[in-house]
Amino acid sequence: MSKRALIFGITGQDGTYLSEYLLGKGYHVFGTSRDAQLSSFSNLKTLDILDRVTILSANPADFRSVLDAITKSEPNEIYNLAGQSSVGLSFEQPVDTFSSIGIANLTLLEAIRFLGGNIRYYNAGSSECFGNTETPATENSPFHPRSPYAVSKAAAYWQVVNYREAYNLFACSGILFNHESPLRPERFVTQKIVRAACRIADGSKEILSLGNIDIARDWGWAPDFVKAMWAILQNDTAEDFIISTGQTCTLKEFTATVFKYCGLNWENHVKHDQNLLRPSDILVSKGNPEKASIKLGWESQYFMDDVACMLVKYNKNY
Ligand code: NDP
Repeated sequence: MSKRALIFGITGQDGTYLSEYLLGKGYHVFGTSRDAQLSSFSNLKTLDILDRVTILSANPADFRSVLDAITKSEPNEIYNLAGQSSVGLSFEQPVDTFSSIGIANLTLLEAIRFLGGNIRYYNAGSSECFGNTETPATENSPFHPRSPYAVSKAAAYWQVVNYREAYNLFACSGILFNHESPLRPERFVTQKIVRAACRIADGSKEILSLGNIDIARDWGWAPDFVKAMWAILQNDTAEDFIISTGQTCTLKEFTATVFKYCGLNWENHVKHDQNLLRPSDILVSKGNPEKASIKLGWESQYFMDDVACMLVKYNKNY
């Protein structure tokens, strides 16, 4: 009998790549969108897998629709990848951000507890919880969230710990650092840079406006990172894991690399825009993926330079 997975947020970047990965492993994949009638499913269509997954309408913050989705799909594993995922937007929509992450995660945990059985649960945690990390964060590093998004992710992380300890659920958080792909929308600065650089290489005279380019992040490759999500749920014990490349680069370095792959010098095409600074931001984000390497055998296959190169290549082809 093939395993069954239910992915909340299947239409997003990670939901789409995880679906492709699980289908390759022979899973029967179910996935939710808040309104399956209206969703365009553009990512699933791009990977040509829409007709291989079963779509359900469900809002993860709505108990009834969550119960319905679980009852219909009878999953062995649930992956919660849904929610408002932009740090920048979370300053403008803090309540919706908290509801779609904190309340939704709690709703899913409650539904699993209520239904009983042996469902394994994955929560999409985030490196944003750590705040600034001068030394690479481990699974034991303290949190200092610096945005409504990160506060919501920190709440969801502790809910998972609590339900594991209190009710013995097989519930885990993957604390993922930034991961990119062509499926990310232009709201995210990495895509904004890649698409602008490609347009400029094609003759556009635009100037790219960026906020703080001295911030440093750990950038990985989304199709690579979703493999870690699956591995976390195959582990013998329910535990949380940091998933990162282990290499940190500044946004300036990322920008320079993208423009280099477009045959351009970034300094001729970028200007600083004070209005793009966030009310509070993380300057340096570093993660230590050693635990995942030792216990899951997962290691990042791609690093910032590869990611920049692949994003530029994809953009030029389409
Ligand atoms: P996406 O934004 O691509 O996808 C999230 C999905 O959640 C959307 O497709 C949407 O599905 C649903 N969604 C969006 N807004 C809301 C909302 N307000 N309420 C409920 N559902 C909503 O995210 P990613 O695939 O990039 O990320 C997956 C998860 O991993 C997210 O929780 C994200 O915060 C987290 N994460 C991502 C990182 C990254 O670098 N990509 C790093 C660390 C964590 P629909 O409209 O169909 O309902």
